[in-house]
Amino acid sequence: MAADGAARAGPRPLVFRVDDSTPGVVQSVLLERGWDKFDNREQDVEGWNLYWRTSSFRMTEHVNVKPWQQLNHHPGTTKLIRKDRLARQLKHMKRTYGSPLYEFIPPTFVMPSDYCQFVAEYFKEKQTLGTKPGYWICKPAELSRGRGIIIFSDIKDLIFDDTYIVQKYICNPLLVGRYKCDLRIYVCVTGFKPLTIYIYQEGLVRFATEKFDLGHLQNSYAHLTNSSINKSGASYEKVKEVVGRGCKWTLSRFFSYLRSWGVDDLLLWQKIRHVVILTVLAIAPSVPVAANCFELFGFDILIDDNLKPWLLEVNYSPALSLDCSADVSVKRKLIHDTIELIYLHGLRNERHGRGYADDGHPGGPLADADRGRHGDACSPLSCEPLFHPTGRTPNKDKPDVKKVVGTRPESQRASPRRDAVPGKDALPSTAEPPSKRKLKDRLAPRKASTPPCLPRLPSPAAWSPAAPRGPAAGGGEAPDAHAGGFVLIFPFNEATFRASRDGLNVKRIIQEFQKLTNKRCSQAAEKKTKIR
Ligand code: ADP
Repeated sequence: MAADGAARAGPRPLVFRVDDSTPGVVQSVLLERGWDKFDNREQDVEGWNLYWRTSSFRMTEHVNVKPWQQLNHHPGTTKLIRKDRLARQLKHMKRTYGSPLYEFIPPTFVMPSDYCQFVAEYFKEKQTLGTKPGYWICKPAELSRGRGIIIFSDIKDLIFDDTYIVQKYICNPLLVGRYKCDLRIYVCVTGFKPLTIYIYQEGLVRFATEKFDLGHLQNSYAHLTNSSINKSGASYEKVKEVVGRGCKWTLSRFFSYLRSWGVDDLLLWQKIRHVVILTVLAIAPSVPVAANCFELFGFDILIDDNLKPWLLEVNYSPALSLDCSADVSVKRKLIHDTIELIYLHGLRNERHGRGYADDGHPGGPLADADRGRHGDACSPLSCEPLFHPTGRTPNKDKPDVKKVVGTRPESQRASPRRDAVPGKDALPSTAEPPSKRKLKDRLAPRKASTPPCLPRLPSPAAWSPAAPRGPAAGGGEAPDAHAGGFVLIFPFNEATFRASRDGLNVKRIIQEFQKLTNKRCSQAAEKKTKIR
């Protein structure tokens, strides 16, 4: 009888739980999707499905999580967040695997413990450079938003009183209209065992608001790209050369700008994906096992004028405030798509009746309420590789994402296509080369340029069409290829799938990376010979 009543009343909405730190956009997106906000005075203490907060959860909270619940943090991920720990993890990977693959973090010293090593390196560089200055940046290990950062050329200007990192300052950043920028790349790890990493195809580009000038190292508005700093600068509202007003672009606008100057954005995107995978791989073996949780990271990546991406830091709980139109267009969709993704990796279990529906707990029938958002069309087995690595749809005849992923209104839909740059994001007609003439000259003749020396990772559908997927497949299923604008980047082939499924075999995965890199390099060399 009770079940009948429930059926007549229709599916109950999913319930989200928040605290004072939960970003407003998360709450508004969930309400928009028809979720209810958890109220502990009215609801059963366990009657929620998603708890989203800024700070991490205690281990007891992870242990006690119920099958119908999801937490927005994974235990053990803070190893990537503190700048000193990140540096140490990546140094360890480099030492262990002796691989140039890990040369994407600028040389870094943790203060005070590495002080002597830094001094030795500083004077060694000084000798090499002769009269030319070298540049370093000193950052507090635990602070964020550009607080406490100093850039220096002379060691006598180095001051630190706590745990800091001193890092080689990238003094040849890719400039847009003479402004420095860095990229905020969103990454969602839906599980560490097996390791499953998705990258978001849209993101943000943050600009300094004063022109880059190595003659004025103390000018934060020229050297730091944090929007928390630049939005209070005098030039924030000014229409700046190429960049325009404000201090942010969407990533798609940035890539389309690069493309307009002949830059191989696919190759750049591929390098960025590698940085992400190799970084997560550094902590994956030591992360504790935890179910029903995920981690949305913000990777800060600076591109230099050789188009090499450098990892600056990894943020957990990346800022989700909506300060400008780029924020609004990226972050709302990002949250919608994160919800789509966790459907695929947890919440949808209820929908497919894994036994929670009949226990009388709110967890059971709840998930149905948001079903329309995800849609049934993207059956895990039928998912086609919809996305090209930079969001270009490879074949016009392939179904567009909107036909496949659900019924969300057009205005809320994620999965922006990089080649479909929205009108408001169109490049200014005064667009200039991304950086110096040198870069333009080197990159302009796209056809004649050297083919990329890095592997292009196949999409999962290419390597595991027959692999069982989805809830019915049990624990060993291959992950879904995408959800909204999220695209699976790890595992990236059958071998890495196997190497991450039964315990994480990092050595095997690194070998796979190297194999692909070597293959790509020899293909590039072959192509070069043919051109000659
Ligand atoms: P925070 O956590 O305080 O934001 P970041 O490491 O992200 O610290 O650095 C803040 C800003 O400083 C970056 O957005 C970037 O513009 C600049 N920056 C940081 N490290 C470097 C570096 N090694 N080379 C060049 N610029 C850097």
